[in-house]
Amino acid sequence: MIGCWCRQPGKTCPFRGCKGNKNIIFAAEMNRRNYQSEMDRLIDELQQAGRVPTLLLHVCCAPCSSYCLEYLSRYFETTVLFYNPNISPLAEYQKRMDELKRFVGEYPFIHPVKVITSDYTPSVFYESVKGLENEPERGRRCHICYRIRLEETARLAAENHFDYFATTLTLSPLKDADKLNEIGQEMGKKYRTAYLPSDFKKKEGYKRSIVLSAQYKLYRQNYCGCVFSKKAIPESSADQASQASGI
Ligand code: SF4
Repeated sequence: MIGCWCRQPGKTCPFRGCKGNKNIIFAAEMNRRNYQSEMDRLIDELQQAGRVPTLLLHVCCAPCSSYCLEYLSRYFETTVLFYNPNISPLAEYQKRMDELKRFVGEYPFIHPVKVITSDYTPSVFYESVKGLENEPERGRRCHICYRIRLEETARLAAENHFDYFATTLTLSPLKDADKLNEIGQEMGKKYRTAYLPSDFKKKEGYKRSIVLSAQYKLYRQNYCGCVFSKKAIPESSADQASQASGI
């Protein structure tokens, strides 16, 4: 809240003309980290050094991967990791994984992109989120879900000597990008491997993913992934498989 008028009760904010709590929110916004800029700065440095590092990229689905891979494959030699024990049921897991492989097979990437997948292990997710079944999306259950996936990505990145690891999850407007980056950095420290910060929805990344999804006719799910998010879909939209709410 540095230097913000908003801290003075009763005064009008010269920037937004508002009073009270709104001002505090504005001041907090000013202090938020811009993870996309951090990534861009790092990429600039890598480019200047003439380096094309290796990246292990956690991917949740083909639509989210589309923009992220289009962008990252210009600068990294990328291996995509499909590890999502949260997804339910198995048929949905298989469908998202197959669609991801199809997209990677069809898109003309600048640097090579490979895909590795994991077995379907939903018990890992259910055991971790016990007692949090009724949490809203973006709540504590989701934070654990982010952690499960980022931890496995960091572990594999360290074990296989990747230069960086990252996740496509920050593309979604429904996900908490600050929390994701916080967990990513924590996992980077824990496994002694470099986390690549991101906020892919900045620079119109989410809009571009919609365009690419249409162009490649990608399956776009209408729920985030777990059984709890599926139950939360409003009745009226349950049959609309192309809605964006899932990503
Ligand atoms: S709503 Fe999405 S992020 Fe949250 S727990 Fe379910 S699958 Fe994970």
